[in-house]
Amino acid sequence: MAAWEENVRKVIPYTPGEQPLRTDIIKLNTNENPYPPSPKALEVLRSIDREALRKYPDPEAKELTEELAGYYSVKPCQVFAGVGSDDVLAMSFLTFFNGKKPILFPDITYSFYDVWADLYQIPYECQPLDDKFEIRPEDYKKDCGGIVIPNPNAPTGVEKDLSEIEEIIAANRDVIVIIDEAYIDFGGTSAVKLLPRYDNLLVVQTFSKSRSLAGMRIGYAFGNEKLIKYLNDVKYSFNSYTMNTVAAAMGAAAVRDDVYFRETIDKIVSTREWTKKELARLGFTFPDSKSNFIFASHAGCPAAELFEALKAQGIYVRYFAKPRIDNYLRITIGTDREMKVLVEFLEQFLGENV
Ligand code: PMP
Repeated sequence: MAAWEENVRKVIPYTPGEQPLRTDIIKLNTNENPYPPSPKALEVLRSIDREALRKYPDPEAKELTEELAGYYSVKPCQVFAGVGSDDVLAMSFLTFFNGKKPILFPDITYSFYDVWADLYQIPYECQPLDDKFEIRPEDYKKDCGGIVIPNPNAPTGVEKDLSEIEEIIAANRDVIVIIDEAYIDFGGTSAVKLLPRYDNLLVVQTFSKSRSLAGMRIGYAFGNEKLIKYLNDVKYSFNSYTMNTVAAAMGAAAVRDDVYFRETIDKIVSTREWTKKELARLGFTFPDSKSNFIFASHAGCPAAELFEALKAQGIYVRYFAKPRIDNYLRITIGTDREMKVLVEFLEQFLGENV
């Protein structure tokens, strides 16, 4: 090891799902939306002013935060925007989890949480989900440095009832509780309405899933004014211009197109419910999903084998070789046609191999 390496911050990075350059595949591995972004957002992209690109962006991304504030009935000073919710979450860890006590999150959850905790040297303790992949609120009622919970959870898709989420927030008034709502628009109930009651709550959402803008990297958070101010102070100590001009303008346009947003979600939810029935018919079991993916297991065929067989067929899903979940596949909901191809292949493969 070279001497300089001793001073290097060594981390084990998060591994994102594959982004193959091939376009002839059915891509159900990173929970993207199969439909294009709102035509109104695309129009912004087409007509972007060259002058606007020459200049630095608005550091506050005001057009976007004001649009979000209006849509979700909060004040603009209660909104924080960032480069995908990954950026918003990373900033939140850095800002709010600055104590010595361990932060809490589920053992089966978004696998970026422990990476950020390690990066920022935040102690953490994982709380095991129960046998049905449910969060147990009582596990989160103890002395801790903060809490982060995705609702619905990933990669399970399980939604926790808002009353139980509230119990956790109420039991932890002395620390920040982050509710990561990356998948909330696909049928869940948001914690946004709890904001007036809890000054320790931060709700994080994204444009990557329900608004079809994963490639633009837009995320945001809602919290009380003071909390958002602390978050902005850290952001401005790091990089003032996180949101680029185009992303912020496209995001604002997407929020304005509520009809398209609702139509797209309705399509995905109805495809999801169809896929649940088909997977159950083929012998898969899965916790009920309120997200845009299904976390499924088949008693007759190991998930790792199915994963490889699907991939060889050009159908990409996500597989995690991790304790408790190594016999599950996380399957993103695609278009009706994509899910039909998936189901037909599984039917044939299981018929021949099980
Ligand atoms: N939270 C959860 C639970 C996720 O699954 C994801 C998607 N990988 C994110 C946050 C981050 O999404 P993005 O950075 O695209 O907003």
